[in-house]
Amino acid sequence: MTEPMFERVALIGIGLIGSSISHAARRKGLAKELVGSARTKATVDTALDLGLISKGYDNAAEAVAGADLVILSVPVGACGPITAEIAPHLKPGAIVTDVGSVKAQVVRDMAPYIPKGVHFVPGHPIAGTEQSGPEAGFAELFDGRWTILTPEAHTDGAAVEKLRAFWEALGAKVEVMDPQHHDMVLAITSHLPHLIAFNIVNTAEHLERVTDKEVIKFSAGGFRDFTRIAASDPTMWRDIFLGNKEGVMEMLRRFSRDLEELKAAIESGDGDVLYRRFAEARAIRRGIVAAGQDTAAPDFGRGPSQVAAKREADPKARK
Ligand code: NAP
Repeated sequence: MTEPMFERVALIGIGLIGSSISHAARRKGLAKELVGSARTKATVDTALDLGLISKGYDNAAEAVAGADLVILSVPVGACGPITAEIAPHLKPGAIVTDVGSVKAQVVRDMAPYIPKGVHFVPGHPIAGTEQSGPEAGFAELFDGRWTILTPEAHTDGAAVEKLRAFWEALGAKVEVMDPQHHDMVLAITSHLPHLIAFNIVNTAEHLERVTDKEVIKFSAGGFRDFTRIAASDPTMWRDIFLGNKEGVMEMLRRFSRDLEELKAAIESGDGDVLYRRFAEARAIRRGIVAAGQDTAAPDFGRGPSQVAAKREADPKARK
């Protein structure tokens, strides 16, 4: 246990990310008091039942009163309207942050509403799963993962350092960059992979010569890994693509160019090009494992015994 870093932390949005912040903060005693609000009463009630917050509110404006840290963990499209709603109720000296997967648009939407004397430090933890809701969170989500902070040049340095220390105490490693650069990096590392996953799963569904049954039955050939990514929340991902149009379009242009090269190599039977490109891709995967960002275990560690054990532990999976 460490000394609480904040007296009162307000979680606005208590889904996968908001609930994981609560778990990780309580693990280390980082907040004297955790309070929160969500869009629906059902989520607030669940968060109270799970002990994620000690006080729940009907709206964000009431939840932020007296908080010295306010964390918006809502779809990026909701960040602007919520900031407008909470602005008059923010405590002077408070830090306001978010966890949105897009940064330039969130900064554009939120910054104009932040009152003088309140510190706005946008953030994005590069950690997640395809699950959502207050029950999906867990304390280890951020352990060893990166969180990117994108403060503006004039932002109070002490506030940035305090939020950095908070994320480090949650288990993350922290890097600071500008919002536009964040959006370019995430376009290739997260947004484009999700677009490809959504698309390939839909393409499989629209096939005529291969049945849906066959796609499901033989999915371990690679398709299954795309379906995990494609199971992510549609609202969240709609907002991400609307919010990072520039970054995604730039990466799509590059992706299409490289795909054309592979298509041409397959068409003309150029095995050298295919081998070279596949070998380069394999080296990237090895780099990710070497950097501790994924397991080296075959099939992401999903050995037959682990799959059987999970099925045993999860009654829903046994059906
Ligand atoms: P989530 O599990 O779906 O939770 C979203 C939360 O926001 C819920 O508590 C929801 O309340 C609330 N909410 C939704 N719309 C709202 C609105 N219009 N006004 C107020 N509250 C609203 O989502 P999440 O995965 O935690 O994602 C939250 C943010 O984290 C997103 O901006 C996303 O880009 C970012 N992020 C996600 C991941 C990931 O892998 N999931 C990773 C990094 C960052 P109700 O439950 O009552 O509807």
